[in-house]
Amino acid sequence: MQICIPHRLHQKVMHLIRRDPRNEITGFGNIEIDSEGLTVQSVFLMPQTVSGGAADIEAVDVARAMRIAAQSGKPGTMRWWWHSHAKMDVFWSNTDRETITELAKAGWFAASVFNVQGEVLSGFWQGTPVPIVLSDIPTVIGKPAVARKTLDEWNAEFDENVTKSPVRWDKEHWWDRPEIDTEANEVQRLLVRDAFNRGEIG
Ligand SMILES: [Zn+2]
Repeated sequence: MQICIPHRLHQKVMHLIRRDPRNEITGFGNIEIDSEGLTVQSVFLMPQTVSGGAADIEAVDVARAMRIAAQSGKPGTMRWWWHSHAKMDVFWSNTDRETITELAKAGWFAASVFNVQGEVLSGFWQGTPVPIVLSDIPTVIGKPAVARKTLDEWNAEFDENVTKSPVRWDKEHWWDRPEIDTEANEVQRLLVRDAFNRGEIG
C-alpha cells in the first residue's frame, strides 16, 4: 500500500502550505485506487480559519469538502485528508488520529501531513468492515496522473480508430502468422518457416 501524489498536485500542496508558512492549513483531495495503491487525483481547500497550532476540521467542513469534490468532476472519491504542521515535524497528533478515525468511520480514508520543509508522512485508516490502521505508508511523488476514466477515453479512441490489418498468407509475410508472437520466439519462428517451406502450411 502506498500513496502516489502526481508532481503537479504535490506542487499545489506545497505552494498552499508555503504561502503562509507560519500557519497550519488543511484540505482534501480525491483518490483513485489502482494496482499500485492509492493515487491522488485532486487537491482543494475549503474555507477555514488557521493558526500556528491547529487547522481543525468539523463535520460541516467535511460535508462542504464532499460537495466541492462532487462538483469538481475529478475522478475518484474524496478520501484524502491532508494538512500542514507549518514548521514542526510531521507526525500524527492525537487530534489528527481522532480526525482520521472519524473520517474513516464509514469505510476508509487516507491522510498525509506535510511541513514547510517538504517532509511528508502518510497513512491509511479503515473503520469497517475490519479496522485497519497503517500509520506510515510510502508517499510516492511524481507518478503521472492517469485516471481510469482517462485511460477508458484513450482506449475508446484507439478502438474507434485502429483496425488490425488482415493477415496475408503469402511467402513474404509468413511471419504474420498469429502463432508467432515475437521475434524473441526464435525456435517457433524457424519451425513455422521450415513448415512453410516444406509446403505443410500455406
Ligand atoms: Zn496534525
